[in-house]
Amino acid sequence: MSESLKGIGIGSKVAAGTTIVVRPAAGVDPNEPASTEADSPRVKQALKAVADSLTEQSALADDDAAGILLVGAQLAGDRSLAKKIDKKLAAGEGVTHAVHNAVDEFAQGLSALGGYMAERVTDLYDIRDRAIARLRGLPEPGIHLSKPAILVAEDLSPAQTATLDKSLVLGIVTAAGGPTSHTAILCSQRNIPAVVRAKGLDIDSFEDGTELVIDASTGTVHFDLPKDELNALQERAKKREDLLAGSSGPGATADGCHIQLLSNVASPDEAESEGVEGCGLFRTEFLYLDKESAPTFEEQVASYKTVLQEFSGKKVVVRTLDAGADKPLKFASQEVEENPALGKRGLRLSQAKSELLDTQLKALVAASEESDAELWVMAPMVSTEDEAIWFAERARAAGIEHVGIMVEVPAAAIRSANLLNHVDFASIGTNDLTQYTMAADRMQGDLGDLLDAWQPAVLDMIALCCEGADDAQAHVGVCGESASDPLMALVLAGLGVKSLSMAPARVPAVREVLKMHSIKQCQELARLARSAKSAQAAKQAVLQYADPRVKDIL
Ligand code: PEP
Ligand code: MG
Repeated sequence: MSESLKGIGIGSKVAAGTTIVVRPAAGVDPNEPASTEADSPRVKQALKAVADSLTEQSALADDDAAGILLVGAQLAGDRSLAKKIDKKLAAGEGVTHAVHNAVDEFAQGLSALGGYMAERVTDLYDIRDRAIARLRGLPEPGIHLSKPAILVAEDLSPAQTATLDKSLVLGIVTAAGGPTSHTAILCSQRNIPAVVRAKGLDIDSFEDGTELVIDASTGTVHFDLPKDELNALQERAKKREDLLAGSSGPGATADGCHIQLLSNVASPDEAESEGVEGCGLFRTEFLYLDKESAPTFEEQVASYKTVLQEFSGKKVVVRTLDAGADKPLKFASQEVEENPALGKRGLRLSQAKSELLDTQLKALVAASEESDAELWVMAPMVSTEDEAIWFAERARAAGIEHVGIMVEVPAAAIRSANLLNHVDFASIGTNDLTQYTMAADRMQGDLGDLLDAWQPAVLDMIALCCEGADDAQAHVGVCGESASDPLMALVLAGLGVKSLSMAPARVPAVREVLKMHSIKQCQELARLARSAKSAQAAKQAVLQYADPRVKDIL
């Protein structure tokens, strides 16, 4: 038997390759002595080595990545930065402190210039971290890819995951994270096979260049897997792919009950309209995260237009900015919160910074005027009727026709009929609805058993929301990760959900499984799942009574 680690698998693909370890930045040396004369040339040498390595990597990267790497190389060689560092050294600051503090000052200068220059601050911090690592004799932090590899990390930040070069990332393994953490969602979205929360993964002792195989369908990371076993895994994945290759058309049960199949979009350049009936969740955060200042009206119009035009003639559900908690914004920082997931996030942050929301709504209307997609707009983290009214009034005043809310908080699920009297539709965010129903932090992957939308209490919550939507005669869909689980899709259809939105690569399996069951069977499966004692028992019961052909596509 080969050695292996178990975790939570994202997707169903198999990946084989060598690893690159993403190391955290080491930071300044807390015990370093005051500077000496030798430090100035040492710093220059370190910065030159960083610049050279970035230039080298740029030669192997694609155009976009090469551009970014070359800007980094230029920044590392900037004369005024070197002067600032020399000044700090002359004042006696230790070598890593001098680099750290000089870069901070330099960054403030760039930020003040705004626009393109302000955006370079992230590149500058990257240079700082690399140079400090060299000065301390440690491996460079961050993600350095010049050839295809499997990334191994403690966890990746939303910005790191979003900016990965998909063509070079064969797969991802993380020690942290959970089934609905940002790394898991973005990997699913980009169809990158991943295992998150890999038990026993020790990043500190893990080496670059280790041969690994990721089996995302079982959440297993194999070391030294014999060739015949790798072939067997790859054949199984291929068989599944072949079964789904011809899948097309709108979503429907065997007896023709329409369940709209939609795709989630995390960034405009990855919007994918082929094979789906529209977009059910356009997460607009990408435009705001990791930025020094809010995106301008014009920048927003351009991005929204890209997505709306991709879905020409179809529906596009845009979620307004969902920041706070695990997605902090540099330019809308709140006081430090003890429990950010229960703090000012989602719509609550939009209420505190309503100018951000108003610009976004206006930009959406302007973009939709230049496309023939049907624009639907919803607010995240709505909890009360008053909040639903506040958002609906603002959105309609801006000219939005189809206004909705996300149901992610139990309060909204329980009183969905009341909330839906003021808006046109609801989209259930099962990632957060699970977190809040089970009182289990979705960032804390070791609570994975509770963070499972199969928990009967979560299914009851979804059922309540659907009943309310039915009373209010409003459309109700699901856009959390659970919508991409083919077995769960049957339960959701049985509970009354009318649309399912997921990562594009997941659509065929959900479509084919729905086709195998009538709506009555779905209702019966939903009843079985709700009457189970546990999440595991609920899923098992559905698997047992679903059509046996389902097993070939899971
Ligand atoms: C959800 O909570 O289910 C959801 C879709 O939103 P996010 O995962 O972006 O919080
Ligand atoms: Mg959410």
